[in-house]
Amino acid sequence: MKYYIETYGCQMNVSDSELVASILNTAGHDAAADIDSADVLLFNTCSVREHAEERVLGRISNEKHRKKAKPKFKIVLLGCMAQRIGKRLLETDTGIDYVVGVDNYRQLPSILAGEAHYALDFDTKEVYRELQPVHSNKHLGFVTIMRGCNNFCSYCIVPYVRGRERSRPYEDILQDMQIAIGQGIKDITLLGQNVNSYNYNGLSFPELLRRLNDIKGYYRLRFITSHPKDLSDELIKVMRDCDKVCEHIHLPLQSGDPEILKKMNRGYSYQHYLERIISLRQQVPDIAITTDLIAGFPGESEAQFEATLNAMREIEYDYAFCFKYSERSGTLAATSAEQLPESVRLERLQRMIDLQREITLKKFRAEIGKTVEVFVEDFSKKSKAQVSGKTRDFKIAVLSGDASLIGSLQYAKVLDATSGTLICE
Ligand code: SF4
Repeated sequence: MKYYIETYGCQMNVSDSELVASILNTAGHDAAADIDSADVLLFNTCSVREHAEERVLGRISNEKHRKKAKPKFKIVLLGCMAQRIGKRLLETDTGIDYVVGVDNYRQLPSILAGEAHYALDFDTKEVYRELQPVHSNKHLGFVTIMRGCNNFCSYCIVPYVRGRERSRPYEDILQDMQIAIGQGIKDITLLGQNVNSYNYNGLSFPELLRRLNDIKGYYRLRFITSHPKDLSDELIKVMRDCDKVCEHIHLPLQSGDPEILKKMNRGYSYQHYLERIISLRQQVPDIAITTDLIAGFPGESEAQFEATLNAMREIEYDYAFCFKYSERSGTLAATSAEQLPESVRLERLQRMIDLQREITLKKFRAEIGKTVEVFVEDFSKKSKAQVSGKTRDFKIAVLSGDASLIGSLQYAKVLDATSGTLICE
């Protein structure tokens, strides 16, 4: 059978889609070049926000017409949404034929053979050993180091749909890294819901990074996501000492208000968070810091929202992923009687975005005149006469050049900047 995978959500899903491709290839199926030539269409989905789920349901509804022309055409739902509402969707007229949860991808071949319609059991031991992911990008690689989450932030659905935290064995991670580097991938991101709590038989995340930094060859090493409560001094030292570990950290703050942080069950205070930022900036010069923020959490007063804006002004993030609060049924925050009207959430979100745009522009403009190391990933979106890539500190850079530069490292001078792109030569 020819299959086509459409992936939504975070990089963890990108990485899982690569695993799914590996499982299907091993079972004798082939990747289709496009949906038109596919016999099976798999949607690897995200449940973090309502909007993400609606988008996938819209896409499935657009694709189910194919069953008329191709009666054997199958639609499979994978990932968080499968785990959360897949069984229900299977019972209604959505067009979905099979539903497979995050710990059940090994069962895909038998499910496609018609042995069952769904597989949704959590398996806290499943870390997909002995599988070689099929990298979907020639230049950027993702290596999953852990799966699941134990933190239960009150707004987040992840622990309910991805199960409990478990760390992958060091040997498997090392092998994945060596394969990726051998394939010429030069920018590798280690993935986990909370990489700072990686622990494999006593091997901590900082020590894991030190070991991976010693693999021979040129490559950049990144990691997401760090939880502020678990960000240790040792990790900061490793970031300082290890040449391949990039000068960038994504450290979700979510809110700058102490009461809201408590209600979110984040496990840190703003003071603790700020102290971590100061330490990072002291020890890793020029480190870029990015974050996630939520506007309009249940019960958030105007003053509490202002505290988040103040935190943004104080910390001056290089970039912030801003979201309005989205109720996820099954989470604690969704049961709160203090839900804010959509209009308030949207208005606060817009103020957050506007502020961050100003800060990002200032940060990006501060790069003008500097020479930055750019790993060229592709043509720029706007012109085939330009290529684009990322700096070590995770800023998008465009520079003039042709296809011959794609996949190479360039040292480029920053001539100008927008609030999202460095313009270089
Ligand atoms: S750390 Fe919190 S926000 Fe992140 S995945 Fe776990 S529960 Fe969700």
